[in-house]
Amino acid sequence: MFISHPIMTYQNTLEFATQLDEQDPLKDFRSQFLVPQHNGKDAIYLCGNSLGLQPITARQYINDQLTNWKNLAIEGFFNGDDPWLGYHKKLTNTLAGILGAKSEEITVMNSLTVNLHLLMVSFYKPANKRFKILMEGGAFPSDQYAFASQARFHGYDLKDAIIEIFPRKGEFTLRTEDIIQTINDNGDELALVLFGGVNYFTGQLFDMKAITDAAHKVGAYAGFDLAHAAGNVPLELHDWDVDFAAWCSYKYMNSGPGGISGIFINEKHFGDKSLNRFEGWWGFREDKRFLMPPVFEAEKGAAGWQLSTSPIMLLTLHKAALDIFEQAGGIIPLRTKSELLTGYLEFLINEINKSKGDELFTIITPKNKHERGCQLSVVCKQNAKATFNFLTDNGVIGDWREPNVIRLSPVPLYNSFKQVFEAGRILAEAAEGN
Ligand SMILES: *Cc1c(COP(=O)(O)O)cnc(C)c1O
Repeated sequence: MFISHPIMTYQNTLEFATQLDEQDPLKDFRSQFLVPQHNGKDAIYLCGNSLGLQPITARQYINDQLTNWKNLAIEGFFNGDDPWLGYHKKLTNTLAGILGAKSEEITVMNSLTVNLHLLMVSFYKPANKRFKILMEGGAFPSDQYAFASQARFHGYDLKDAIIEIFPRKGEFTLRTEDIIQTINDNGDELALVLFGGVNYFTGQLFDMKAITDAAHKVGAYAGFDLAHAAGNVPLELHDWDVDFAAWCSYKYMNSGPGGISGIFINEKHFGDKSLNRFEGWWGFREDKRFLMPPVFEAEKGAAGWQLSTSPIMLLTLHKAALDIFEQAGGIIPLRTKSELLTGYLEFLINEINKSKGDELFTIITPKNKHERGCQLSVVCKQNAKATFNFLTDNGVIGDWREPNVIRLSPVPLYNSFKQVFEAGRILAEAAEGN
């Protein structure tokens, strides 16, 4: 246990970082991941917000399925230790814990942008006056393109149908009160509030319950893109009464580039015949799927939204990664460490500013740990690109966003306090060169 938690006074020393590592109940999980090398040593990988690291077990999980394919061929769907037909159900319990949902409310399929489109088929039902979508301004580009093309598909002009909400002048993040005000202001014209859970650029964690409540009060659906939230922060999608959500598995869930996406559908919508749904045979009730009747009959729950034969290789990679989440005790212990780890990075960055007597680095991610996940987004006021390159040259892998933002995400499963300390030291060196 972290004995000094929750009242933590951080120190800018290697001894302190080492001590926190010794207290860390999750410290051994790091050895379950493959880390890119830099000069013969593990790089300091702070980029789990873009692509999580490979679990060592991933190769074995893939190999097992290749063996099943070899030995069983078509029979692999029905026979063997883990038949492919229901393989996706082996993931839903763990995901239900991570997302705060009932297992039936979750399924895995496709990739994220595809799922956003499919969910909008169900939950974006513009009619008469009510046709607008409210979203974060400057959302991840794929979301912007997806929402815009859905509005266009329904015959609307973007400038009428899409409302983007931006931070106030001089601020970097959104105030919940402003989001709610915008929802109320557009009340009877709002069809859908479709927000991120954690903003990809600033790392801001939104108050999803408050947003959902406000959307419902004006008669709109509330959905969330959880790409940067799933596996990063605890979620309670069911209790918050969220209508639907989708996420990818390759960021904080370490399931491989282009890994399978997941969706959440609130159980209150399971029986709603008025919801449109694009149908495919993998969403047909499993017990009768192979009778292949002409008229669609949905599998109960979110699985009824599936369309195509499960991509077993992607599912098995996802399972390799989720099994590690299970071993770690789920998202809650991870979050405890995460808050400390990100808090430590924040402390070290502020120490650099203090030593320079100037705010060389402005952290635009909220200071309040309840309003952020792992990631810190750092504006570099001077020589931004050179600073980023210096980090990279010294084995610190973060990522760069034009014009001057470095995103750094210490991930509790595979980053240590010592690594965060080292990253801080290297960043301080970069600042000296400024
Ligand atoms: C990463 C990310 C995506 C990526 O979508 P894909 O379809 O998996 O390429 C979409 N939206 C957000 C908010 C993201 O962070």
